[in-house]
Amino acid sequence: WTARDEAVVWHPFTQHTTWAGDEPTVVASAEGPWLTDVDGRRLLDGVSSLWTTTVGHCHPRVNEEVKRQLDTLDHATFLGSTHRPGIELSEMLVERAPRSAERSLEKVFYAGDGSSAVEVALKMAYQFSAQSGRARPDFVRLQHAYHGDTLGAVSVGGHDLFHSTYKPLLLTTVGAASPGDRANGPDRVAHAEADLERIMAERGEDVCAIIVEPLMQGAAGMFDYDASYLRTARRLADEHGALLIFDEVATGIGRTGSMWAANRAGVVPDMLTLGKGVTAGYLPLSAVLTSQRVYDAFLARPGDTGPRTFFHGHTYTANPICCAAAIANLKVMEEEGVLDQAAALGERLGGLLDGFAGDDRVAEVRRVGTMTGVEVADQGPRTGFDVCQAAREHGVWLRPLGNTVILMPPLNLGVSETELMIEALAKGLDDVFG
Ligand code: PMP
Repeated sequence: WTARDEAVVWHPFTQHTTWAGDEPTVVASAEGPWLTDVDGRRLLDGVSSLWTTTVGHCHPRVNEEVKRQLDTLDHATFLGSTHRPGIELSEMLVERAPRSAERSLEKVFYAGDGSSAVEVALKMAYQFSAQSGRARPDFVRLQHAYHGDTLGAVSVGGHDLFHSTYKPLLLTTVGAASPGDRANGPDRVAHAEADLERIMAERGEDVCAIIVEPLMQGAAGMFDYDASYLRTARRLADEHGALLIFDEVATGIGRTGSMWAANRAGVVPDMLTLGKGVTAGYLPLSAVLTSQRVYDAFLARPGDTGPRTFFHGHTYTANPICCAAAIANLKVMEEEGVLDQAAALGERLGGLLDGFAGDDRVAEVRRVGTMTGVEVADQGPRTGFDVCQAAREHGVWLRPLGNTVILMPPLNLGVSETELMIEALAKGLDDVFG
């Protein structure tokens, strides 16, 4: 299988490293937190198959709902028609969206994956500014941000590896300091808040949106930060008439131990992107939740000379089978108490990872709920990769981001499996550091 794969398949990100040994695992089946390869070897899926399998693989109830939907309605365009799963999922998302006395998210716009949801949010924010009076050209993006790899999403990213090759990129953006940037020392949050104050004072009237991954910058290296930054961003966006976008593609759907990082932070954005875990890893589906105010700016008004339509919509938008998987996932999460399990899992992970305190092979452990990065001491660019390879030999599938080993298991992972995951990491460190 690996030879046949190598002959014809081009994998995202992982294939063209010059490091030997990154042979893909050939996955044959999966159940709960376990993957089984074609040789019958079981591996614990410590990263939820790229942070998606919220309730574990092939959950019987999600399987059942997906099969039922498959026999009922496979696909119907969302352009000019609608369907029960699309409506029901929207209702469920709006009911569960973050809200405060002043702000709520009332409308759902579907997209296909996390990157596309970010594209939607960016295009919507720009068009919203134009339709509210004056087109504002700029987006504020953070150092160390990752919002996906389509060109708009790359434009608002803040990681050179993904960013620099494609310059000059598509959007005008202004880079802001990251509140999670360790290079700025213990005052990094205050430093980033001051930087955002400065940017907004200088050019706030040209900013249509500030986009952030709330509480944890994930895919560029797992940099957590304090909610006070989000309160400052909320205030500055309001003061300058800009929108605040929370990209919760990674942090949403219970990953931080709350349904949304926005809930944990107590800050409600004007738009929220979600993806990954929403369908429990079954099928691609993402969405942007927006406020009524944003939606209303797209309604036709008397005297309009041109359309206000939002010019976006993909062929498979809101595919009913994807929606059915998401509905089933949200129901399982609630009926099986998965948010409580996620909160407990986060605590358990924290407790076990405390065992690495003072271990000079571990540079830093960064965690918000179950969203965890273990930065290993740098022995060159592939140390993190080598630790993950070694952990795989001990039965646990992990993947690095640079030298940070990511732990993002299913939210309902059991106690013994959590211990196994940390043990495999410890043994991986022993193997690599000797
Ligand atoms: N936003 C964030 C915060 C993400 O973590 C990711 C994926 N890691 C994306 C967007 C892009 O999602 P996708 O890979 O589904 O396009």
